[in-house]
Amino acid sequence: MTNESTLQADQATPVLKALVIGAGFGGLCMGIKLKEAGYQDFLILEKAADLGGTWRENTYPGAECDIPSALYSYSFEHNADWEFKWSGQAQILKYQHDTAAKHGLAENIRYHQHVVSAVFDESRSVWKVSTQTGEVYWAQHLVTAVGQLHHPSTPEFVNSDEFEGDRFHSAAWDHRVDLTGKRIAVIGNAASAVQFIPEVAKVAAEVSVYQRSPNWMLPKIDRPYAKWEQRLSARVPWITRLYRWYIWAAGEYGMLSAIKGNRLARWAIRRMCLRNLERAIDDPELRAKLIPDYPIGAKRVLFSDHYYPALARDNVHLRTTGVKAFTKKGILAKDKSEQIVDVVIYGTGFKTNPFLADIEVLGRDGRSIREAWQEGAQAYLGVSTHGFPNLHMLYGPNTNLGHTSIIIMHEAQVNHALSVLRHLDANGLKCCEVRAEVERDYNNEIQARLSAMAFSKVAQSWYMDGNKVTNNWAGGTREYQRRLKRVDWSAYSVQ
Ligand code: NAP
Repeated sequence: MTNESTLQADQATPVLKALVIGAGFGGLCMGIKLKEAGYQDFLILEKAADLGGTWRENTYPGAECDIPSALYSYSFEHNADWEFKWSGQAQILKYQHDTAAKHGLAENIRYHQHVVSAVFDESRSVWKVSTQTGEVYWAQHLVTAVGQLHHPSTPEFVNSDEFEGDRFHSAAWDHRVDLTGKRIAVIGNAASAVQFIPEVAKVAAEVSVYQRSPNWMLPKIDRPYAKWEQRLSARVPWITRLYRWYIWAAGEYGMLSAIKGNRLARWAIRRMCLRNLERAIDDPELRAKLIPDYPIGAKRVLFSDHYYPALARDNVHLRTTGVKAFTKKGILAKDKSEQIVDVVIYGTGFKTNPFLADIEVLGRDGRSIREAWQEGAQAYLGVSTHGFPNLHMLYGPNTNLGHTSIIIMHEAQVNHALSVLRHLDANGLKCCEVRAEVERDYNNEIQARLSAMAFSKVAQSWYMDGNKVTNNWAGGTREYQRRLKRVDWSAYSVQ
């Protein structure tokens, strides 16, 4: 419950128009658009010492985006300098820095501000936000832009603490550990692991890849852009827009159709994946281990030109017997074989549920968002949830995608939040809350659609909380943009 005396004592503190939590792609977009709309009284609170979100945190060798940069970038901030079709982490981080600088966001970002609680003060219709180090901020609107993939998941195996070598997670890469000539165990083999395993294999003496389940994988067919292509992109923006549209259409009409269950699309993508596998791996036994038993798109379809060739190397071994325990010197597999290794790298992904895990969010009547989301996170259009007025979520529940750029979703969500801010201000209103029945009906619709899609066809993935798909959106980006473009005021109570 909110503490009345604390609230009284803070009456003198200035109330900002908005507080944004997180300075990754979502938070930066919100900041840029707030400024463009003429709002100056907002802050972006960032827990780390730098902006960039996932692109600041993931520095593992080979880290790059699996969506081409022409689409994985803001629609309003074209970059003609991409060096590769699929950019590496450093260049994406640079793009974020350059964009933030161009829009003058430095004055709005506060670093080392790890938000621990956000409490809605009903009497004034404002949010009180507190940080780990004791700072307190007040704002009319709270925008969460904390991403879905920022809490590394490091599974506990029997005796893992007894292992005498080095071990670290891909999202907290220990660059002090020299992997040259070492024996390495990698646990996990999905989006992150398939990027760093080929790099590690180039220098390590031996790499053991512990695979629990295989993934569908398409080739990237990456290459550097030629200078003339960069110049063309800078001088003829419509060409880049056309290229952006082409990448978008391929995802929307190819991969998304497969995820929705279209047989032709599923067959075609499956064929492309199998051909990719057959081209790189000759050994039929190894090939068989790399073919998933679940439909295309149930888990993220991976893109790599280097992973299968890495597995074909003499110094790389795919181990599918499962990890039973760690020993002092290595890893004991379930078939009782022991691999002696110097380093263990966890490519085991992220804890994606609960949403907003770091932050104690208390809404109307002091109700906690954790309690409200006991049966899995949900939100109307992924942006608003009943009981939490003036809370706007970016990349919230059911807004992740398996087929195209998340930045498209961010922009739609930012646009929605701004429309709410403007409308309240223009009409002298203070508060906006989605109606419970609207949110319930919306979620029934989304869950019914998701249950027919590939995302629901595996027992477990980071898209799910228990057996409910809480992370992914149920359609295409055009539908999402359309539904967020104009705020449906009948869905909200405003005062
Ligand atoms: P992930 O997709 O969740 O994969 C985790 C891997 O670890 C899987 O192979 C999983 O096996 C395995 N694993 C987890 N717990 C395990 C356990 N207890 N024992 C054995 N194996 C275990 O994580 P991620 O690869 O870090 O990727 C997460 C998401 O980040 C991606 O889906 C993508 O959206 C994003 N990402 C994007 C890029 C990009 O290029 N844009 C790059 C990296 C990551 P199972 O499959 O059997 O569960």
